[in-house]
Amino acid sequence: MNQEPVLNEAKKDYSRPMHTAEHILNQTMVRMFSCPRSKNAHIERKKSKCDYLLTEDPGTEKLAEVERIVNEVIDKHLPVTIEYLTHEEAAGIVDLSKLPDDVSETLRIVRVGDYDACACIGDHVDNTSEIGHFTFLNCDYADGRLRVRFKLTD
Ligand SMILES: [Zn+2]
Repeated sequence: MNQEPVLNEAKKDYSRPMHTAEHILNQTMVRMFSCPRSKNAHIERKKSKCDYLLTEDPGTEKLAEVERIVNEVIDKHLPVTIEYLTHEEAAGIVDLSKLPDDVSETLRIVRVGDYDACACIGDHVDNTSEIGHFTFLNCDYADGRLRVRFKLTD
């Protein structure tokens, strides 16, 4: 699956808005750069971090475009929905090539409107209207890895 980090709501800094923003950011990065979803994400309430494997530095203009698109998606007030599908049913919807061996028979598919779908066991907002405004704090590219830090404001 597009393995999202396993997050436990009991964890002090868990943030549904941040984690849901991560889904939207991942999909936006996949669409713009044909890269994998972030595999090394650190999501916290105040600020979060995601790494993306890219063959070249996207540059500030493209990253400004990513930021713009993420906010455009958020501002559509899309419903975030959950459904349980078998692997067969999910095959056409999400990338199942990276599923861990011990994954369950039924996959929990999280959709952000018709923008994103991925297998995830985390907790999310019910509607993107709850996320707020997405802003990159900084973006560093080195050795094939883009690291972005971002925050959410009202
Ligand atoms: Zn999730």
